[in-house]
Amino acid sequence: MAGLTCGQVMAVLSDVVDGDIAPALGAQVEAHVAGCGQCARFGQQFVTLLGAMRQQLARPDDVPADVLACVRARLRR
Ligand SMILES: [Zn+2]
Repeated sequence: MAGLTCGQVMAVLSDVVDGDIAPALGAQVEAHVAGCGQCARFGQQFVTLLGAMRQQLARPDDVPADVLACVRARLRR
């Protein structure tokens, strides 16, 4: 199945968090996380974040701050 590896997903997560990611790549990340138990455990917040971003593309500065804080804290662990 075409898509990203777990390592590729992890590599772009910081970009996802910063909102510095192409929508098409964001969709690939979301699709991987949805189908990968390992990433899903780590990345449930990312799915939430990506969903929020997709709904708010017209307002990219309006990603929920609590989601960003939670994701950033995990990335820095
Ligand atoms: Zn994975």
